[in-house]
Amino acid sequence: MKKITIAIDGFSSTGKSTLAKQLAKALGYVYVDTGAMYRAVTLYAMQHNFVSENYLDKEALVKKLPDVQLKFQFNAVLGFAEMFLNGTNVETEIRTLNVSRLVSKIAEISEVRSKLVEQQQQMGKNKAIVMDGRDIGTVVFPDAELKIFMTASPETRAQRRYDELLENGQSVSFADVLQNVKERDFIDTNREDSPLVQAEDAVVVDNSAMSREEQFEVVLSLAHHKLS
Ligand code: C5P
Repeated sequence: MKKITIAIDGFSSTGKSTLAKQLAKALGYVYVDTGAMYRAVTLYAMQHNFVSENYLDKEALVKKLPDVQLKFQFNAVLGFAEMFLNGTNVETEIRTLNVSRLVSKIAEISEVRSKLVEQQQQMGKNKAIVMDGRDIGTVVFPDAELKIFMTASPETRAQRRYDELLENGQSVSFADVLQNVKERDFIDTNREDSPLVQAEDAVVVDNSAMSREEQFEVVLSLAHHKLS
């Protein structure tokens, strides 16, 4: 059976990972959340005091990059792969607002990007993969058969992320979450290396007024079309 690569890019908290997981499950494909990789490197940098709100020791982090080992391990109970940093499960820690506040700074570093992009390309070399991120359709897999670019208003996205954080027992304010969403949009779209841009051949999905099911049906039919 024909196998394809599906790249899902877009702004933060647009529901990329929910959609990507649904698609991967329906097609029997592997799902890779590349944001988790940038988040894990950020956590590593935080643990080693290489980064904080107003400080970044880029050189020290780059020097230590060969020691940063990232691995996805499938959790059958949860139904998705969890992120392990140097052998420790960091799936919960990497989702905190503290990591979200610093991750875009780390994702700007070219040495970090090239290390992670190489791993991502390796994971997708046999196709049958759904990968989500910011540069999947433009840099990681420019030849992906199906590219989706997801967007929604900052307020809609912040509300989703806020609900998610509260559900996970974190106490945050909506204003802080909205500010973080806007800041990451700005850094992600303005950085020099691999900025967040829509690939020319990507299909845009604005899900501000779409249910998860509607969005899934639209994208699944696009995938079936590519597979036929
Ligand atoms: O997708 P998520 O919101 O978890 O990504 C966290 C951050 O990681 C993004 O805001 C972005 O700065 C960075 N990222 C990236 N390239 C990717 C995936 C994520 O720069 N492919």
